[in-house]
Amino acid sequence: MDNCIFCKIAKGEIPANKVYEDEELLAFHDLNPQAPLHLLIIPKKHISNIMDMDAADSDLIGRLFYKAQEIAKNHGCEEMGGRFVINCKSHGGQTVDHLHCHILGGRPLSWPPG
Ligand code: AMP
Ligand code: ZN
Repeated sequence: MDNCIFCKIAKGEIPANKVYEDEELLAFHDLNPQAPLHLLIIPKKHISNIMDMDAADSDLIGRLFYKAQEIAKNHGCEEMGGRFVINCKSHGGQTVDHLHCHILGGRPLSWPPG
């Protein structure tokens, strides 16, 4: 998708601090971290938001979550846990219109969201 910053990261056109990559998924450090660990994991395929996924994307998104929890464990969150967040559209606070899951950890996180 033209002009999508996360598509550009997925294609290697702009840099990111990557922690995991395979043919269909990419995980990298958030530019503006909100916790000691703040990663993003994306499908390389452009899906604008979670409400825009097709049934055919279900396996891909399942693998994204499996990899997200594995990465969180590999980054020291296994004992204390963390949070896996997908913001959606304006009420959800989504600012980048390419589906991404935040992986947050390393400190207690408050609830409910503001
Ligand atoms: P959201 O508000 O859920 O759409 O989250 C978008 C996230 O992307 C924010 O936490 C930003 O800090 C992060 N972000 C935006 N641009 C970049 C970038 N070029 N590299 C890494 N993270 C980014
Ligand atoms: Zn995109």
